[in-house]
Amino acid sequence: MSHSATTIASLASDFAGELIEPDQPAFDEARKVFNGMHDKRPGLIARCTSSRDVQLALEYAQHDGMQIAVRGGGHSTPGYSTCDGGLVIDLGPMKKAEIDPERRTGRFGPGLRWSELDAATQTHGLAVTGGRISHTGIAGLTLGSGSGWLERKFGMTAASLLSAELVCADGRVLRASAEENAELFWGLKGGAGNFGIVTEFEFRLHSVGPLLFAGMILHPRAVAPELIRFYRDFIERAPDEVGGGLALITAPPEEFVPEPARGQPACGVIVAYVGDPDDGPSAFGPLLEWGDPLLTMVQPMPYVAVQQMIDGGFPWGINDYSKSDYLPHLPDAAIDQLVAETSGTTSPFSQVILCPLGGAVARMDQSAMALTIPDAKWMYFCEALSWDRAEQDREIAWARAFMESMRRWSVGKAPPNFLEPDEGHRRLRVSFGEEKFGRLVALKAEYDPHNTFSLNANIPPTAG
Ligand SMILES: Cc1cc2nc3c(=O)[nH]c(=O)nc-3n(C[C@H](O)[C@H](O)[C@H](O)COP(=O)(O)OP(=O)(O)OC[C@H]3O[C@@H](n4cnc5c(N)ncnc54)[C@H](O)[C@@H]3O)c2cc1C
Repeated sequence: MSHSATTIASLASDFAGELIEPDQPAFDEARKVFNGMHDKRPGLIARCTSSRDVQLALEYAQHDGMQIAVRGGGHSTPGYSTCDGGLVIDLGPMKKAEIDPERRTGRFGPGLRWSELDAATQTHGLAVTGGRISHTGIAGLTLGSGSGWLERKFGMTAASLLSAELVCADGRVLRASAEENAELFWGLKGGAGNFGIVTEFEFRLHSVGPLLFAGMILHPRAVAPELIRFYRDFIERAPDEVGGGLALITAPPEEFVPEPARGQPACGVIVAYVGDPDDGPSAFGPLLEWGDPLLTMVQPMPYVAVQQMIDGGFPWGINDYSKSDYLPHLPDAAIDQLVAETSGTTSPFSQVILCPLGGAVARMDQSAMALTIPDAKWMYFCEALSWDRAEQDREIAWARAFMESMRRWSVGKAPPNFLEPDEGHRRLRVSFGEEKFGRLVALKAEYDPHNTFSLNANIPPTAG
């Protein structure tokens, strides 16, 4: 890839943001992404402040034939928001948060992380379903998955997207909504950044908090098979307000964990009651009373704290590889297999999270969005995380084996954000289904026929 000093100078004359080249002191910090496995050196990082900056950066890359990586929060597990030698269009500085509390809507810049959006919306007691790790970007998450603690009450993030502004591959700035460029809007809701660079998201906001009855109950791993059975039966009958998940983790070496349990395999039940906190204790009563937990830290707490509850398990810069799938049901045999396979990990950061679907997720109007969620009660996230590259190779092998061992009970699908490139193109297509995939290919042909935006869960511009 080439880029000349002359063209950088001409870009710099109009560009309002920061242009960072490899020889500048800020480069090493600016090139970092969440996943330590992707240690790449772009040719140029354009930190945009407006749609105009995005247009200029795009034009520059196209003129010089550079590969383009678009970055919101930089959390992509496959490392799609960075590249070697190409141009990173970094939307990080675009952190607008304009909230209309009367209409319960908000317009947000693509550089926001969930911690920042949540802080802004919570000043009005409002929220939209966001990611479970607060340093994830709102942009990538909204476009390609949108799963979080609020989803059983309000559906996934796409269900609350009202409109988006984007810069298309040909440089046009368009707005997409149910009324305007409706097919494009449909594709943005789950199509994973394939059709342009989104410069503004407008969400419907919901009344949430500021306090939620929430927290974590920690049990020893030895009781996991019985606990998961109980959790399954409890949550499958629970109202939409009962959210959370269950994680097979290694208990952290923290003061709040009883000394003998620190560093030992454990089972964490995440509690999140999305309603009046006074109703939380009775709604979660059976779970709170179950067994003999190592600790119970459940109480009314700020929603923004709920959103940061498991951040400690996902530190920025760690090596990350992930496998996910839907489980229509969770029979006893699947639970036993899941618990047995989880013991194959050696890194204290690796973990398996089981999230209940149902509620508003099951009622989303999926004809109005590209995102395709099968009829399933559960989803698993098998997270291979470690600091050491040699150890990470073993953890990746573990995650792949985990997925294989669960295949009997899973559907072989996942939203674009949870697909690893080594799973091949077929799984992306299968996850959307033939009809929706065909519509996405047609949209790609219309809005990005040369596949300018290829670093993503890529929809090809031609069928085949
Ligand atoms: C530790 C961890 C936890 C996670 N937890 C959740 C979770 O709870 N729920 C969930 O749904 N997902 C979760 N994810 C997946 C997450 O949603 C995706 O990784 C998402 O892409 C991250 O968004 P980002 O903006 O930070 O990503 P980036 O790395 O910046 O971008 C990811 C992709 O989106 C594209 N993109 C980014 N911004 C734009 C834009 N403005 N316009 C067009 N394309 C854009 C990029 O080109 C790239 O292909 C998690 C991921 C990790 C690593």
